[in-house]
Amino acid sequence: MSETHKDHIAVVTGASRGIGAAISSRLAAAGLTVAVHYGKDKDAAAAVVASIEAAGGKAFPFQADLGADTAAQDFWAAYDKAAAEAGVLNQPIHALVNNAGVTLRGAIEDFSREDFLTQQAINVNAPYFIVKEGLTRIADGGRIINISSGVTRIAFPEIIGYALTKGAIEAFTLTLAKHLGPREITVNSVAPGVVDTDINAGWLRGNDEAQAGVAASSALGRVGQPDDIASIVAFLASDEARWITGQKIDATGGTNI
Ligand code: NAD
Repeated sequence: MSETHKDHIAVVTGASRGIGAAISSRLAAAGLTVAVHYGKDKDAAAAVVASIEAAGGKAFPFQADLGADTAAQDFWAAYDKAAAEAGVLNQPIHALVNNAGVTLRGAIEDFSREDFLTQQAINVNAPYFIVKEGLTRIADGGRIINISSGVTRIAFPEIIGYALTKGAIEAFTLTLAKHLGPREITVNSVAPGVVDTDINAGWLRGNDEAQAGVAASSALGRVGQPDDIASIVAFLASDEARWITGQKIDATGGTNI
């Protein structure tokens, strides 16, 4: 375990599967104790914690629905309870990773107001208020890392509402980085291209044509995997990335370059 992060906590939202689970494993391997947030999938979160512990790391799960109006209050109350049970309540939070998100599909003519607002609540309001309510908990010199998307650079009209949420996250990242600079907290975003996770299960999994199309659009000739993103997040969380703030790292395997 790294001595640098002894007693430091990383909080990862939506960590029960996909990119969030991979980020949790990476941060635990770097020596951080990982607070594995989940929405509904308790068993999956427990499996992520078990796999981190089996590899010699430290982690504990906690639950909060990020679509609720009280998401941020629920989130930190659940965190406090779980952290107290894990005996780490007063340990500093070094890294907060806003990873949880949904992709709801629909062109602007068809996309319902309800879906628009649900997606906005989970992808934008939740990270904003989790940061707002969590600012005093994050240690000076810490890290906030937001997961954006390549869709702010490449247009997909069928997910226009989703693209809007990720554009908001990038603006939030930039502005928050300036605000938190005096505390030496860095704030960055990572913008993945298509990654093979449940968020894309409906159109990508088991669809050879879609897989081949995604692979062909990438300079590196394959579909992204969760650890391709997690390794970048781990770098941004490390001391090696201390001079990077307010930036977006495009992590698309060179899609449409
Ligand atoms: P995923 O569906 O596997 O994971 C999303 C996570 O968010 C899950 O753990 C889920 O439980 C959680 N979540 C969703 N709604 C929630 C709610 N209401 N309350 C609490 N938790 C909730 O997908 P993923 O690909 O791992 O997505 C992780 C992040 O990466 C998301 O922000 C997504 O927008 C972004 N992203 C993914 C891709 C991709 O191709 N997979 C590309 C670009 C960006």
